[in-house]
Amino acid sequence: MFDKAFKEQLQTWDKTYLWHPFTQMQDYIKEPPLVITEGKGIYLKDIDGNEYIDGVSSMWCNIHGHRKKEIDDAIKAQIDKIAHSTFLGPTNVPASELGKKLIEIAPNGLSKVFYSDNGSTANEVALKMAFQYWQHKGQRNKTQFIALQYGYHGDTIGTMAVGGIELFHKVFSPLYFTTHFAPSPYCYRCPLNKIPEDCSMECLDKLEKILQEHADNVAALIMEPLVQGVGGMLMHPKGYLAGVSRLCKKYNILLILDEIMTGFGRTGKMFACEHENVVPDLMTLSKGINGGYMPLAVTLTTQGIYDVFLGEYSSLKTFFHGHTYTGHPLGCAASLASIHLFEKENILENLLPKIQYLKERLQPFKTLKHVGEIRQCSLIAAIELVKDKDTKEPYPWVERVGIQICLEAKKHGLLLRPLGHIIVIMPPLVINNNEIDRMLNIIYQSIQLITQKKE
Ligand SMILES: *Cc1c(COP(=O)(O)O)cnc(C)c1O
Repeated sequence: MFDKAFKEQLQTWDKTYLWHPFTQMQDYIKEPPLVITEGKGIYLKDIDGNEYIDGVSSMWCNIHGHRKKEIDDAIKAQIDKIAHSTFLGPTNVPASELGKKLIEIAPNGLSKVFYSDNGSTANEVALKMAFQYWQHKGQRNKTQFIALQYGYHGDTIGTMAVGGIELFHKVFSPLYFTTHFAPSPYCYRCPLNKIPEDCSMECLDKLEKILQEHADNVAALIMEPLVQGVGGMLMHPKGYLAGVSRLCKKYNILLILDEIMTGFGRTGKMFACEHENVVPDLMTLSKGINGGYMPLAVTLTTQGIYDVFLGEYSSLKTFFHGHTYTGHPLGCAASLASIHLFEKENILENLLPKIQYLKERLQPFKTLKHVGEIRQCSLIAAIELVKDKDTKEPYPWVERVGIQICLEAKKHGLLLRPLGHIIVIMPPLVINNNEIDRMLNIIYQSIQLITQKKE
């Protein structure tokens, strides 16, 4: 194990030299950092030897658990051949194999794979492809985008320009291109004040109004299908995605589906858009692409879009975009192993009883005084906490109830990361019912304890 002196040294180095993402470092340096040293299956171990359930799949990435033998072996085998060679020009073995595999499992109609290395870059690629597509087509006015309120597509400038989360995105707004925001179908807090019984998805009418006014200037609409993740695990009503797809076709704009969180089984099907038989013009994937092992991302598109970029070199139709680690052999090898595991271990079929079990186990949470809504899509669940259940008044964000509940859960062996006052449950897909049970007991008690203290 690690001796005390080494542990303290590591923690000091971390506080002295590092700047963590999405973290107020002034608070961070007040506490000893949690140092993860190992993982196995759905468990993580810290430097003191404490074990935790990885309740949010190491930021929504892990699928098959940690140290999954088949993926470990695939990476080791690839390392014994070569770790990295450039993809600018040459290709490599796992990248070619994975390209074919991805197109086999992707919705029919997507037929080309463009590699990058994280979700933000995959979306940048999609935005740039959509933009340049219309430039090549001679529709040069199509320079704007449509996105959804509460949407999240990454932290690079282009993806922030289509981001709908004020807390993160407002400060950088002078840097953005024009994006029109359509209301999010966040039914618990319906932007049109409808109740589900009396809803005919008027939010789609609002989108249509935007399209009527701006479609001539719009290149594409980008959205997260079925579940808006970072925005609060907002789960869309059935038919919404199909409705958006229909409107994009009607008004002649491209549809970009950001499946970075929803892809690879998270919603119960390989890709969320399959639930509504929607095939986008561009689709981005990253987090679950290799079970959470390596930075890797792809932007998938259609033959039709690809073809518009073909021409003599001098016609300047080339897609001038690429990243140094594009098509990384280790990431691709891991991804091939991960996709193979979906088939070999029947991951999607095996989810069904767990989804049902999670649903039953979430029922008792409804009686908790400060649980406003429970949302579930497959093995993704979200518990929205409110100060007042009748008025849906949220907790003031400065109170950080979500963080406090997660700190309490950590004491009992469960690692979570909330989204404000929304508790997110997103375990690796291989979790079993006993582990779901344990996880939910910890969450229940933590919510009860912290919300009672706040009374
Ligand atoms: C995480 C996420 C991204 C950004 O991916 P990074 O790899 O963090 O850049 C984009 N879109 C969605 C839906 C995500 O969940």
